[in-house]
Amino acid sequence: MKSGKVIVLCAPSGSGKTTLTKHLLDQKIFNLQFSISATTRQKRENENDKIDYHFLSLDEFKVKIDNNEFIELEKVYEDVYYGTLKSEVDKLIKNHNIIFDVDVIGAVSLKKYFLDKALTIFINPPSIEELEKRLIERGLNSKDDLKERIKKAKKEIEMKSSFDYSITNDDLDMAKSEIIEIVKDFLNK
Ligand code: ADP
Ligand code: 5GP
Repeated sequence: MKSGKVIVLCAPSGSGKTTLTKHLLDQKIFNLQFSISATTRQKRENENDKIDYHFLSLDEFKVKIDNNEFIELEKVYEDVYYGTLKSEVDKLIKNHNIIFDVDVIGAVSLKKYFLDKALTIFINPPSIEELEKRLIERGLNSKDDLKERIKKAKKEIEMKSSFDYSITNDDLDMAKSEIIEIVKDFLNK
């Protein structure tokens, strides 16, 4: 195939981005591969190095910044960096379409980098209250962490007009169908 296209999913933490990303990756016909970001945050119990993220120390991450190895990078939370490695994208794009899970600023940077080859989709939670409920039920975040994620979510939702599409993940099956149609149209263009 000629070099692949790029799908960028962005959503406030807890809105269902991981769930919808997995659903897209399951559609073998889309030939999507997940771009594994680098991060300095702690690995969670259910995560694996080099599968969910390239988990790096702050020093390792900073060396890569100095060596200009990132397409984009963000300090998403205090002392926690996330970034898209050029090496990761170069490896995947030759034979696959790529799906990215990044924050709002990262999504805007990737759109600038890939231009028309990229489709950006924002996933809304049905409401801030429902978002908080899902985060609490998921049980992965401390109280302070939760507060920070809710604060960040409100800011992110204000930026959704910078995206090509915005969908609401209320009923999961409906959100799945909607995102499949959007991605199918884009990849077939
Ligand atoms: P994110 O990757 O955006 O942080 P997740 O995909 O991990 O979000 O979803 C957060 C939590 O909400 C998970 O426990 C997930 O099972 C649940 N969830 C996702 N979509 C829905 C939905 N439409 N209705 C109810 N719960 C949902
Ligand atoms: P989490 O800690 O929940 O895995 O991710 C926190 C936030 O960092 C999410 O909004 C996620 O999309 C974002 N993120 C993950 N990888 C990257 C990346 O490579 N670049 C940017 N800019 N954000 C990222």
